[in-house]
Amino acid sequence: MSEAFDSFEKVRALLQDEEACIRVLYEAKWPNGFRCPSCGHDHAYPIATRRLPLYECSRCSKQTSLIVGTVFQGTRTPLHLWFQAIWLHSRPGSINALQLSKEIHVTYKTAWLICHKLRHAMSGADADALLTGAVRLTDACIYHRVSSNMKWHQQEQSVLIGATDGENGEPENVKIKKQDKSLLKHRLEAPKPGSFILEHVATEARMSVNFVRQYSRERHHALLKIGREVEKWLAELFRGIGPKHFQVYLNHYCYDWNRRKTSRFGDLLGWCAATRTITYPVLTRRLSVRSGRRSRSTESRAVG
Ligand SMILES: [Zn+2]
Repeated sequence: MSEAFDSFEKVRALLQDEEACIRVLYEAKWPNGFRCPSCGHDHAYPIATRRLPLYECSRCSKQTSLIVGTVFQGTRTPLHLWFQAIWLHSRPGSINALQLSKEIHVTYKTAWLICHKLRHAMSGADADALLTGAVRLTDACIYHRVSSNMKWHQQEQSVLIGATDGENGEPENVKIKKQDKSLLKHRLEAPKPGSFILEHVATEARMSVNFVRQYSRERHHALLKIGREVEKWLAELFRGIGPKHFQVYLNHYCYDWNRRKTSRFGDLLGWCAATRTITYPVLTRRLSVRSGRRSRSTESRAVG
């Protein structure tokens, strides 16, 4: 699949109608052939009376749609535009909602929602991949402000960056997780990496995690470099991100980084086909009075 779709022009040409997209999505959703979600049977009859076909299980007669249980569920946007959006998100550096709205000719709100649904799929992609082997960990500050004040600046985001030590010391399987600033009395206090290690490091590797603080002489330069690159990416592509959606943008960056040497279109399409959608009301729900505060960033404008 990856070679056939190695340019945006090819994606537009090969996937210009819904029929072609349905065939590709069918392969992504059921790579080993149809599987009934109710009884597990492997044969169904297609019922092509709607825009997207239904499949009726030949054993239990339950009907299932191609997009149920995927990020496309409930969408009114044609699949070929979704596929173009997936391809544009698969490029190194990715794309923001305003750029996407112009590329595929949809409203900003639709583009914003597509971007977030794709990020939702990316977030699930690495969630279960625990760090193994020699694991390095550092704290870092995104949107760091120079200040003699010990208090956090509102825009500063405390994160932990962890990765497995790969060949030549290059980080592999990078994870960046936002820390709850309210648990740190001040900006110089050392974060406690216990919950990061429990959630993201394999049991056998936990005791040997090498946690070094960002300003230590032995600091992990490669991880801190990734932190600076994240900050640059967020600032240049999204003009900064507020706290509410900050973690999913970190997940997006890690998804890209962990696949930087591979073709991603088929991978992201596969995750979209295997991930339950997230809806606009859930995305825009105020998480709390404090974190739901209006952000001035471009990407958060539609949230309000
Ligand atoms: Zn069935």
